[in-house]
Amino acid sequence: MSFVSRLPGTCVCGNAINAGDLIERNAMGKYVHAACLSVQSLRPVYRIAKDTVEEWAAAGLVRVAGLDPDHARELNGVGFSRYDGDFGHDMAEKILAENGLTDKMWAAVVKLATKYQRQIGPKPTLIAV
Ligand SMILES: [Zn+2]
Repeated sequence: MSFVSRLPGTCVCGNAINAGDLIERNAMGKYVHAACLSVQSLRPVYRIAKDTVEEWAAAGLVRVAGLDPDHARELNGVGFSRYDGDFGHDMAEKILAENGLTDKMWAAVVKLATKYQRQIGPKPTLIAV
């Protein structure tokens, strides 16, 4: 932790870093307000699928959600179960919005897709993309 003697520019929060502000270097080596460091590191990072399994899970959940447009309960073995419906639809919407998911969401989506392999097909071999 240090105090600014010369002005290192703008913080990740969008505000200027002023002389006398308490600053830290973040993981990128950029100066930020000390108070903004933890805020930034806690912010979840959204990313696109990184391997064939995540791509398969994303496409599969979107398909299952599409088979179940009115959140109907598992009718004839099609669509999400009552238990998975809300989460499954929420994730499918996020995937379709194309902003990606967080690591934690990706893990949950792969787990959920694995449970629905009967509808979406078997999990592929893991290959990074
Ligand atoms: Zn800041």
